[in-house]
Amino acid sequence: MEDAMHEWCSLEYKHMLQKIGPDHLYFTSLTDKCMNEGMPEEVKAAKLYQVDVLNLPGVKPEEICLLDPAGTSELAPEDGDKFKYFLFGGILGDHPPRDRTGELRKLGFAGRRLGPVQMTTDTAVNVTKRVVEDRIPLDEIPYIDYPEIFFSRHESVTMPFRYIAETKTITTKDGEQKTIKKPLMPPGMLDLLKRDNEMTLEF
Ligand code: SAM
Repeated sequence: MEDAMHEWCSLEYKHMLQKIGPDHLYFTSLTDKCMNEGMPEEVKAAKLYQVDVLNLPGVKPEEICLLDPAGTSELAPEDGDKFKYFLFGGILGDHPPRDRTGELRKLGFAGRRLGPVQMTTDTAVNVTKRVVEDRIPLDEIPYIDYPEIFFSRHESVTMPFRYIAETKTITTKDGEQKTIKKPLMPPGMLDLLKRDNEMTLEF
């Protein structure tokens, strides 16, 4: 885990906490600096460890499933019976992906894929919860790939990830009811993207 937590990461971590609860979320390999300075207070509600994943007290490696974009089989509801822990690379998505999850794969964990498209880490956690806990098959979860987020009529950014799709009913200017699909993103992410986008435009 890096010393300082980028705002993007803390929004994703808070989102995970909201969805799966602090008792179910473990962070490992935390540096002193991250524990003392880099981590927002809300995220400290999770279980925090400075040891790495192989040295977590009472956790056996065979109980751990690595969510691996290069995994050879897809995550299935039955994996909820086979594994007790699900491991995610605490790394920001890069595009194209540089296979940094490979660092964890080298440690020999069983791996499962969540489909062929890279998800944000909070999406990967939410999808895993829906599959192994709510027992929804991976291909029955609604997704949006590479959504385009509009800040104004002419400014937009395309997110190079897969998200869970939420459907919302909106009323148009003409009073018409319309159902739209929106990516499930952490609260505050749209504002952050907007701020980042404004900064880019100023340069
Ligand atoms: N770009 C990174 C790489 O090169 O490995 C992946 C970053 S992804 C945002 C962060 C984590 O989410 C991954 O380490 C993995 O645990 C999980 N993840 C994201 N998409 C996934 C997928 N399609 N299948 C399995 N795991 C996925």
